[in-house]
Amino acid sequence: MADGIQRHTIFQNSLMTALLDGIYDGELTIGDILAKGNFGLGTFDALDGEMLILDGVCHQLTSDGKARVADLEQRTPFTVVTNFVPRLSADAPRGMVRADLSKFIDEMEPSANYFHAVRITGRFSEVVVRTVTKQEKPYPPMSEAVDEDAEHRFTDVEGVIGGFRTPAYAKGIGVPGCHVHFVDDARTSGGHVLDYTVDEAVIELCPGTDMELHLPVTAEFQAGRLSPEDLDEQLHTTEVKG
Ligand SMILES: [Zn+2]
Repeated sequence: MADGIQRHTIFQNSLMTALLDGIYDGELTIGDILAKGNFGLGTFDALDGEMLILDGVCHQLTSDGKARVADLEQRTPFTVVTNFVPRLSADAPRGMVRADLSKFIDEMEPSANYFHAVRITGRFSEVVVRTVTKQEKPYPPMSEAVDEDAEHRFTDVEGVIGGFRTPAYAKGIGVPGCHVHFVDDARTSGGHVLDYTVDEAVIELCPGTDMELHLPVTAEFQAGRLSPEDLDEQLHTTEVKG
């Protein structure tokens, strides 16, 4: 066995391509998800905001840029969670923006061939987020749903940026690269992170060697088109936009 890596499981509910296909209603509740991990991200039924789970508390980040604690009975169509163990830690260089920091995290990783939970805690001179807007049936595909996204910019803010780095080979199961959400220290605002600038922060990584993939047993999932030919374009439109 190679040095430095301990087995660690990440639990995932459904697929990124299912969300892209407009499958916005899930079968698992927040209560079910918290039983699988105390840290993670996702979204809520009807695409009603972004999710960030920290220390076993599930935060719902709504399209007005606000945050609230989600109810255990709410449902989720897409979620990735784990029990976060901060196995690797480093001070984030001051002034670094998202693109640079992503490379910095690459260098911290023992191998880019594993999944990594990422948690960045501290002060940011800027965090730019966008948040999906609750959708009505019949649901449009996500590339259309994000047209209504609201963008918010927070300056000189303390909080947590959390999420996952997904290897390129798992594109479509998840979002390749870094997919992170933000909530402020007061837990009253946040969203899906488009960019950020570090003032003073600590980066912690939790490598994941095992993936428990839970595919929904729903009619919508069974009928979904989950291998679109324009996957790269759809991922760019929905996740990187801004
Ligand atoms: Zn997101």
